Parts: sequence; structure tokens; C-alpha cells
Amino acid sequence: MSTRAEQLSANLAAVRSRIEAACSEVGRDPAEITLEVVTKFFPASDVRLLAAAGITDVAENRHQEAEAKAAECADLGLRWHFIGGLQSNKAAAVARYADVIESVDRRKLVGPLDRGAEQAGRDRDVLIQVSLDPPGADHRSGATKDSIPELADAIATTEHLRLRGVMAVAPLGEEPGPAFARLAEIHAELLAEHPEATWRSAGMSHDLEAAIRSGATHVRIGSAVLGSRPVVQ
Ligand SMILES: *Cc1c(COP(=O)(O)O)cnc(C)c1O
Repeated sequence: MSTRAEQLSANLAAVRSRIEAACSEVGRDPAEITLEVVTKFFPASDVRLLAAAGITDVAENRHQEAEAKAAECADLGLRWHFIGGLQSNKAAAVARYADVIESVDRRKLVGPLDRGAEQAGRDRDVLIQVSLDPPGADHRSGATKDSIPELADAIATTEHLRLRGVMAVAPLGEEPGPAFARLAEIHAELLAEHPEATWRSAGMSHDLEAAIRSGATHVRIGSAVLGSRPVVQ
């Protein structure tokens, strides 16, 4: 029987070597990739072990759970990423504790996020979540391509939000490569107008290699580090 700390460091080592292998395939430097560990459904004690193992970035997708864990782990100096669906009446509260908000997909969220950042006394990094669903598909979360320029301008003109790039989840049941290639194109269009928006958050436990090959700068890894979640998402 190994301890939880040993399990987590073994899993982290395996994920790090996957990242290195994917980088070396395409001639990228692994130092360009930020590993975010997605700790949703796992306790604050795991977050502590991850911090001790050298993790600097953690991600959560539910407001109440994220808020509680960020408070409990406030002494660790971690960067908290919010990657879940945002309700406009919760957006200000999320911006009070989340350093990076990756799931901004509509204009209505921008005002409340900016207010929350102001209340926190901290500028916040923001990513536009892009929908990679084919046009006309049953649309889940994410901004459609057409709505991105206006959303980007709205974020860029706030006082307390910094537009840092894009985030996406590859659609289920599709090869991730073509989906991430669409994201790369959308990102290039955004960069033409907003050259500071250099981050591209893509790739989860099962598709991190495809994401890195396509140019992701941030990967969001949950189950490959922490094990399977107790509840199906
Ligand atoms: C849960 C989640 C992840 C991590 O998924 P794994 O398959 O466990 O690596 C990444 N991104 C988002 C948006 C998530 O909700």
C-alpha cells in the first residue's frame, strides 16, 4: 500500500513525462506548458499534497466547492483557475477568489467579473471559452466564433480584467486533433487583434498529447493525477 502522497507523485511524474514526450515530438519546450491540476471532487488535503509536490496551478469547476477549497488552502500561494459554467449572479463572487477565469463565454459575465476583481483588489486573468461544437450542433458552453471579437473587446476594455487567451474542451465523440486545429485558427484570429492574449488552455487527461501538438500552453489534468472522480460528470 502506498500513501496518497506517493500515489500523487507517481501520477504527476507520469503526466509530466507524457507532456515531455508530446513536446519533444513537435520540438516544443515543456517549460512552455502550464500544468493545471483539476481538483474538483477531491479534498483540500489533496491540494496540499499537490502543492508540496511542486504544483502551482489548480483548477475547479463548481463555485461553492472552489470558494471553500481556495479559502482552506489560502496559505499555499497557489494560482486558482475557474473552469466551470458561470452564472452571471455568481460571477462577481468567483472573481473574488479565482486568479484566472477560463470559462468566460458571454458578454453578460464581463461586468460582474470586473466588479468582483475590483472588490478583491486584484486584476484577474480571463480566457474566452470557445465552443468547438460543429455549427448548429446542440450547443453546450463556449462562445461561438462570431461572438468572440465583441466579447474580447469588452473584456479588454475593463479596468480589472486582463484578456489572456482562449480555452476549449474538445467535443465528445470526435477526434481531438481537428477540434484543436479549429481552436488554433480561432486563437490566431484573436491574437491578430489582441496580441497579449497568448494563452491557449486545451487538453485533459485523455487528449493532452493532441492539445500540445496543436499548440496548447495550458493543460487541465484531473483523473490522470487524482484518480477517477467519485461522481460521473
Ligand atoms: C474536469 C475537467 C477537466 C479534467 O478532466 P480529466 O479528464 O479528469 O483530466 C478539464 N477541463 C474541464 C473544463 C473540466 O471540467
